[in-house]
Amino acid sequence: MRLRVLGTAAGGGVPQWNCACPGCAGARANPGWRRRHASLAVEGHIVNATPDIADQIEACEWLRPGPDPRQTPVAGVILTDAELDHTLGLPRLREAGELEIIATPVVRGALTRWLRLDDVLSPYTGLRWRDLPQDDAVPLAGGVRVQAVPVSGKRPRYAAGDGPASGWVVALRLTDPATGGTCLYAPSLGIWSAEWEKAAAEADCVIVDGTFWDDEEPRRTGISSRTATEMGHLPVEATAGRLARLPGRCLYTHLNNTNPLVDPDAPQHKRLAELGVETAADGMVIEL
Ligand SMILES: [Zn+2]
Repeated sequence: MRLRVLGTAAGGGVPQWNCACPGCAGARANPGWRRRHASLAVEGHIVNATPDIADQIEACEWLRPGPDPRQTPVAGVILTDAELDHTLGLPRLREAGELEIIATPVVRGALTRWLRLDDVLSPYTGLRWRDLPQDDAVPLAGGVRVQAVPVSGKRPRYAAGDGPASGWVVALRLTDPATGGTCLYAPSLGIWSAEWEKAAAEADCVIVDGTFWDDEEPRRTGISSRTATEMGHLPVEATAGRLARLPGRCLYTHLNNTNPLVDPDAPQHKRLAELGVETAADGMVIEL
């Protein structure tokens, strides 16, 4: 299984268009700090459709179109949740002849009911929905199998109070039957459950929520009145030690622009290195 990290930033990206915080200002001064919205290519499928999706496709050579004029290797989109930063890229793909979207039933329901995605996009392209199950794995075109591991019941703000509690935010367990390689991808991790722990312990690679370094970061930096955990993101300080005890390779993604890890020279990188935990970089390729 061939994975490409297409982006590693939380909502807004790094830099965020309306933000002059140290991380965003640093990214304007140093192009090497820049991070696109968190996304992952799994062979021909793209995990989460971010506002950067067209640039992310261009940046990944195996997702570029050809050889026929309108032939694309992009086979579909897999969604971990219905958050705007993970779904705003879907209308960007309206030129597709047909678009496969793999999502849990509640995520599909939110996108259909609140964002009216079917109504808006059906005059442009055909949406082909596939259920992302929690009790079984579904095969992708290339043979990789994908299964949902529930990690949080947090709804997007536009769907607050809507629907059942389960299936709003999931991790993806990606398994290649040919190699036996397994990756667990969780750009949002709200709780460290027994189910999550088991899935993480079985994975060769865990790519996980690194939105905030510490729980007070969103309040201290003035971006929210809630803590990181209250926003549905366990902070790095709460997960790094647990990741260090897992047998597989562990990498943080989905970094918010307030996270000190945005600065490549921040001392926090040394603390992670001592634990053997990595920070994912845009463009990284992982073979499992
Ligand atoms: Zn910022």
